[in-house]
Amino acid sequence: MRPEALNCLFVDSESLDGVGPRIRRPLEKLGLTRIKDLAYHLPDRFVERRMVTRLDEAGIGENVIVRLTVREHRASTGRGPYRIVTEDDAGDICTIAYFGRASYTGKKQLPVGETRWVAGRIDEYGQTRQMVHPEHVSESDTAPIGQQREAVYGLSEGMTQGRMGSLVKQALEHLPELPEWIESSQMAKSDWPAWHEALREAHRGPNEPARDRLAYDELFANALALMLVRASNRSQRGTPLQGDGRLRAKLSLPFALTGAQARSIREIEGDLAQTAPMLRLLQGDVGAGKTVVALSALLIAVEAGAQGAMLAPTEILARQHYTTLRKMLEGTGVEIALLTGRDKGKAREAILMGLLDGSIQIVVGTHAIFQDAVAYHNLALVVIDEQHRFGVGQRLMLARKGRRTPHTLAMTATPIPRTLTLAQYGEMEVSRLDELPPGRQAIDTRVVSTDRMDDVVGALSRHIQSGQQAYWVCPMVTESETDDIAAAEARYEALKERFGNRVVMVHGQLKGEEKDAGMERFSSGEASLLVATTVIEVGVDVPNATLMVIEQAERFGLAQLHQLRGRVGRGSEKSTCLLLRGKALSQTGRQRLALMRETQDGFRLAEEDLQLRGGGELLGTRQSGDTPFRLASLEQITKLLPLAHDDARLLMERDGGLEGARGEAARILLYLFERDYGVQLLRGG
Ligand code: ADP
Ligand code: MG
Repeated sequence: MRPEALNCLFVDSESLDGVGPRIRRPLEKLGLTRIKDLAYHLPDRFVERRMVTRLDEAGIGENVIVRLTVREHRASTGRGPYRIVTEDDAGDICTIAYFGRASYTGKKQLPVGETRWVAGRIDEYGQTRQMVHPEHVSESDTAPIGQQREAVYGLSEGMTQGRMGSLVKQALEHLPELPEWIESSQMAKSDWPAWHEALREAHRGPNEPARDRLAYDELFANALALMLVRASNRSQRGTPLQGDGRLRAKLSLPFALTGAQARSIREIEGDLAQTAPMLRLLQGDVGAGKTVVALSALLIAVEAGAQGAMLAPTEILARQHYTTLRKMLEGTGVEIALLTGRDKGKAREAILMGLLDGSIQIVVGTHAIFQDAVAYHNLALVVIDEQHRFGVGQRLMLARKGRRTPHTLAMTATPIPRTLTLAQYGEMEVSRLDELPPGRQAIDTRVVSTDRMDDVVGALSRHIQSGQQAYWVCPMVTESETDDIAAAEARYEALKERFGNRVVMVHGQLKGEEKDAGMERFSSGEASLLVATTVIEVGVDVPNATLMVIEQAERFGLAQLHQLRGRVGRGSEKSTCLLLRGKALSQTGRQRLALMRETQDGFRLAEEDLQLRGGGELLGTRQSGDTPFRLASLEQITKLLPLAHDDARLLMERDGGLEGARGEAARILLYLFERDYGVQLLRGG
């Protein structure tokens, strides 16, 4: 049960003044559905605004508050903005521009002939001063709104800074008093404010100690939860699994295992034979051959008379694993089934029965495989592919499925920098596939300007003519970003015009069956070109696809580009990756793409990405899945995680865990960051 003191933070944000149906959606889009989410929605930055009496006192690019009188409205022509011509007290002109639907706001707030206080940034447009989308407009006889310094929050469509600011302010009024969970010596050493204070300060202005403290809280909660998981795992009994090798001997593999694969399998075999449940991470770069290692682990479980499950992060990947594994299992007599959220009715019933009576020995699926309705005869091993996509909580839910705690093998292709490995996996044992299967050729990576689109399409055409396949990847920040979908659809249409029905498209907003059909046509070779958003990022394996084009490559994280590029270079043919870059590329953007060209070493890319990003570049989009944290930046993780980790260990080992006064406070922290599965485990174990 959540500590009572926290209840007010978990109240729906709908209870705040000014949250109606219209604001609800934009809030949901940002994940700000509760008071606590709003309180933790920290500003991206702050603007300092200077009050000026005349426009010519302000520099170009400066944020000001100035009194302007409206002279004229000019409707937009074509794609141009709606322009409102204003002048200051001295008669100097400033045009205020509104794009799209924002023009309604402008029309309402700035009627002709009226004088208003306007806050925003002065830019230049041709010969005149211009202000695009002013931050605030208020009536001239009232005091100017907007303090001299104002927080700038991340917004979604339909939301304004003013509205967000007022919601956050209300949320902060609901903060309860909480006991301190950080060691007092640590607080003093870093000069950190108390929790309450830290939240307020972080919204008030740039304040490093306050922000660090809040990030530390998150890291500490995470470290503590992982330690609780680990401790609970140690205290639990699993089923020791001893395989006799009879099924593995029947496997028909078209290749010999690499040394790294054989070693990893031995390590896993050793763990499975123990009573303590295995908690092992299999880390291997894209294409390193994790699937066959997973299969061997699953077969050990089956040989020992138990069941194994394999969890994939997406429907596409689950389906593909199922197909691959089933093929490899031919002739072994092992029953394997696929279970996803899409299976309904009789087919689903049959699978559920098979899992319950044990006639199905291996199940592959999405998170549907650990829903309540799914019961197992004797589940003893869970393999989780692309573990970084799942939270620890999800993994534990699965762990509760067996009568005894199943062994867990987590797999990841993400070359996580060392600092993050600790954060995401705590103290799991690690097996590394540090050797690629033989015969792989380097992927020829090139950075090409979007201006050369015709050349790119020409090269693509020749490639397809020669009988090989290709991927075309369009950026997609989140799967709900309508502009991105539209751009991807437009690209698909254009390519279809050229290549006819040899082109298929797959993106996150298509129906499941449509996605499958597209993927199926591509992997069978019927289609030559797959246009996709990042849904193909993880795990898709089509060795005949040897060309990859990535549009707006600068918008992707390096780790993500690396994953994408890993889709080619899987066969023995030479592969090529074309990174199309936009015209306005920042210095860092340039460096990052150059790095992609230079190396294919996932670990190096990840480390350097961390460096480049740590350099203060605002990525604009937060790559979901990169870190399990909402607050802590990569820089803060690097700086504070070791501290948080040590502190969590001390609390667990020396200070009596969650007992005692500080333990009580730490328990509140776990609930605050929704890492309370740790607490529940403690109770259960
Ligand atoms: P990962 O999941 O680690 O990205 P996969 O398991 O999908 O990689 O393997 C990538 C490709 O390499 C597959 O086509 C697979 O059949 C092949 N492969 C795996 N192990 C070997 C090996 N030892 N020798 C040759 N090819 C291999
Ligand atoms: Mg894989």
